[in-house]
Amino acid sequence: MNENVTSPTVLKALMDTYHVSPLKRFGQNFLIDGNIADNIARSSAPEGACVLEIGPGMGALTGRLLERARIVAAYEIDAGLSLALRDMFKDEPHFHLFHEDFLKADLMGGIGALAEGGAVHVAANLPYYITSSCLMKLLESPLHIASITVMVQKEVAERLCAKPGGRDYGAITAAVGFFSQPKLLFHVSAGCFYPRPDVESAVVQLIVNREAGKDADAYLRTVKGLFAMRRKTVKSNLRQSFGLSSEQAGEVLEKACIDENARAEMLSVSQFEEVSKIFKKDTDFFSKMAGKKDFI
Ligand code: SAM
Repeated sequence: MNENVTSPTVLKALMDTYHVSPLKRFGQNFLIDGNIADNIARSSAPEGACVLEIGPGMGALTGRLLERARIVAAYEIDAGLSLALRDMFKDEPHFHLFHEDFLKADLMGGIGALAEGGAVHVAANLPYYITSSCLMKLLESPLHIASITVMVQKEVAERLCAKPGGRDYGAITAAVGFFSQPKLLFHVSAGCFYPRPDVESAVVQLIVNREAGKDADAYLRTVKGLFAMRRKTVKSNLRQSFGLSSEQAGEVLEKACIDENARAEMLSVSQFEEVSKIFKKDTDFFSKMAGKKDFI
């Protein structure tokens, strides 16, 4: 495909040709800045990589990824866009489109089968309404994901990259920090999209630590439990979320070398990990915790 889809005129003409228009409910804000698309493709996909793209849209990023990658597997929920993509990239044998809701997709049966156990690099201008669910699905997946480079809302990027003790540090920071090292790459203004969104954006990159997945369940439940009431101390949260007595909560914190009066936003990934290890060893408190998602 040679069309320059990051030109607003070309993009609108192509959308007319394929009878599609931007749908708010799918978070469709298409990239119309070629330099940004180039930068994301370059920083996300090493030459010859196997790339997973979420929400290819009209292919702004996809075309560039195809120039570098050995395989591009893209998941697109929108039927009209999927038809357009199949047509636009019909001459690219290394392009694989899954017309599916990414959150419901069986990744091992899709991109997993194409990657054959090899490393996968994720690239996306994410639909913002499902940012945290997409990230958690990727990080908890058994796929061998090496890196995740994604456009997200600026405030979310700041949260992902926050340090303990800061205003932006929250459950999603601690959750993502367990699996990966996040880095803010660059900011992107609202004018780089069509239609123009109400928010500013940024591109973040997560370098994934392959070992982290093992104890993820206990860790994530701990994070969610300790952040349940943000303004309360971790001791109160231990009691409320896990049904501990004041004495038991104090004991857990002492073992983990955490101040009783600390609040969750002051704890590092390794401190959450310490608490989750104590839980795993000594108790069945986790049965009291329900879901563990919805970190944002
Ligand atoms: N990558 C394109 C670009 O940069 O111009 C489009 C990005 S747009 C912000 C988000 C894309 O994700 C849209 O194409 C939208 O249809 C798609 N999308 C939204 N929800 C999705 C889901 N649950 N699964 C797969 N794709 C989804």
